[in-house]
Amino acid sequence: MSENDILQSLRNAALASIHEAKNSAQLDSIETQYLGRKGEITSQLRRIGSLPAEERKDFGQAVNDAKEAVDAAITARREALVSVEADAKFVDEAIDVTMPGRLWHTGRSHILVDTLQRIKEIFIGMGYEFVETPEIEDYKSNFEALNYPEEHPALDEQMSFYITDDTLLRTHTTAFQHQVMSNRKPPMRVATLGKCYRSDAVDATHSHTFHQVDCFTIDRGISMADLKGTIHQFAVEMFGREVNVRFRPDFFPFVEPGAEFSVTCIICGGDGCNVCKGSGFLELGGAGLIHPNILTAHGFDPEEYSGFAFGFGIERMPMLMYGIRDLRLFMENDMRFLRQL
Ligand SMILES: [Zn+2]
Repeated sequence: MSENDILQSLRNAALASIHEAKNSAQLDSIETQYLGRKGEITSQLRRIGSLPAEERKDFGQAVNDAKEAVDAAITARREALVSVEADAKFVDEAIDVTMPGRLWHTGRSHILVDTLQRIKEIFIGMGYEFVETPEIEDYKSNFEALNYPEEHPALDEQMSFYITDDTLLRTHTTAFQHQVMSNRKPPMRVATLGKCYRSDAVDATHSHTFHQVDCFTIDRGISMADLKGTIHQFAVEMFGREVNVRFRPDFFPFVEPGAEFSVTCIICGGDGCNVCKGSGFLELGGAGLIHPNILTAHGFDPEEYSGFAFGFGIERMPMLMYGIRDLRLFMENDMRFLRQL
């Protein structure tokens, strides 16, 4: 192969790899390979000395031509690659403004917390002071001080969670009366709300843990009329102006007389449906005038003072309002359920 043929094939090989270079780093190494100080084309110049004198001028010219051609090809390819690389970078960093955003779920209060808060606001608006008493109560506060006779079925150990012989998880929020009455003097208008516990088998309508609200008032001249007015006002604020309240005689050891109270069915508006079993009313809770035995036991003269007390369960309200059929859903924290409310 003649010197010119070797040069020609180097020149072709260089141009071919320049054409195929994918990025400027590859182009840099091609440049070094052919045009660097020890590059393959640059090295051809050193061979001039070994050529016959008449060939030297032409060969020198040919090497310079090759160098210029390769150099020009590299410059052209580099410019082309700059814009290709910029395009690639642009694609990499591009923001797709049509892509749907990530859905963030904001936290909010539990439906029971909302209900408790609403109830609390209504009674605070009526002048009640909310107090907290322990969920672990002694036997006296939970039963004895509330005038329960010793043979009352609620005292059965099977129905309550006893911790020791004398302490148990409160079975109703009414247990707060004893503590409050022991530390205050009339007039008083006090309320509490929170968890209660009973040893019940869990199913769609029963739970070992549930929530109650309890309120009582002691003052001079308190009568059933005050009780009815208070519950009616609460029902109007909770369920709306159209609601009626119905009282029917009932027995609770801590009140005399005692009553259960119902409100107009919020499902049918009083016309009668299967939720209210055709009666048009839904039973809400128990109420009555505080038993004279309880007033006396706490040092309040029943001739001078009287009072009323009432309490009701919480879970029933959101169950009716939202058509929730299973009590267990409130405690299970299943997001599929909670997000619907
Ligand atoms: Zn109804």
